[in-house]
Amino acid sequence: MSYTISITKTEKSKIDALDFDNIPLGTTFTDHMFICDYENGAWLNPRIEPLRLIPTHPAAMALHYGQAIFEGMKAYKNPEGTPLLFRPEKNASRFNKSAERMGMPKVPEELFIEGLKELVAIERNWIPPQQGSALYLRPFMYADEAFIGMRAATKYKFIIMASPAGPFFSKHIKLWAEKRFIRAAEGGTGEAKAAGNYAAAIRPTELAKAKGYDQVLWLDAAEHKYIQEVGTMNIFFKVNGAFITPELDGSVLHGITRASVIELLRDMGYEVTERKITIDEIREASHNGSLEEAFGTGTAVGIAYIKEIGLENETIHVSDESPVAVKVNDTLNAIKIGKLKDKFGWMTKVERELV
Ligand SMILES: *Cc1c(COP(=O)(O)O)cnc(C)c1O
Repeated sequence: MSYTISITKTEKSKIDALDFDNIPLGTTFTDHMFICDYENGAWLNPRIEPLRLIPTHPAAMALHYGQAIFEGMKAYKNPEGTPLLFRPEKNASRFNKSAERMGMPKVPEELFIEGLKELVAIERNWIPPQQGSALYLRPFMYADEAFIGMRAATKYKFIIMASPAGPFFSKHIKLWAEKRFIRAAEGGTGEAKAAGNYAAAIRPTELAKAKGYDQVLWLDAAEHKYIQEVGTMNIFFKVNGAFITPELDGSVLHGITRASVIELLRDMGYEVTERKITIDEIREASHNGSLEEAFGTGTAVGIAYIKEIGLENETIHVSDESPVAVKVNDTLNAIKIGKLKDKFGWMTKVERELV
């Protein structure tokens, strides 16, 4: 089944006001959005229209009970200027896993992908040409039924917005291993990209930043012993020449960058093991000299190199250089912009007539 997406174009594009060499972070949006309404059990009226404010009833259920989920992905351009999406079908299926966990309706994957492609085609001139820049895409869904009471809403909106993003310069970051607050517990919503997960992370992140750290390293809810992930990134360690990353135990977000990096590392000949990892074993590996690298993986930053991890009474030094992580980052970026052969079949071209 194919969807008919109606298109209303803006009368005046805002693109001329954007300096592509100095894109402000997260505050610039393209001219249009994709939007679709859920009512009476069906997704209705998929359309692209000028980005605008959406009237919200004060009783809209998302505002009270938090039924809100999102995705994050990026569009790039290959050397011929064709827009490329990185594994969009993975975002579509993860979006629906989030929806299921939060008692929200699924968005047919074809509608999700068609909406993305149509929006990217219309906004293709907003994909920054600069190396390392990209058009960030934010699909999201929220409950907009006006109702006071605890149950799943019956009305939702599914929207995709786009925001140009400048190059992210990966510096070496410092993590704070958090033993008081938690991000996710088994059986909770840690695997969902649910808005509330991020709300709960804001205060602990502020406190870590006040201590001089860049991000929180989340530990398990029961014992504060096992490493989960970082901010909006999954985490990898290189110990004695091999890689380890926390297993997907029900509380860790299933990162698409994580899955891709595992494939890349194995392709490069490294051993990668997904298992439980304790903060103590990482401290021990640092002490005995076997901890060689650590890095975070996520769409927003790609790969973030980790230089140290702060604990209550000591600092774990990781490394000042991350040669393998740099190589993985370069390879991933080259695939995303079509400069390296896409041997894993990760890229989707957006080939559309311009309307
Ligand atoms: C989005 C996200 C990630 C990274 O996922 P990618 O698909 O690689 O972008 C990791 N952890 C959390 C908590 C996230 O929200």
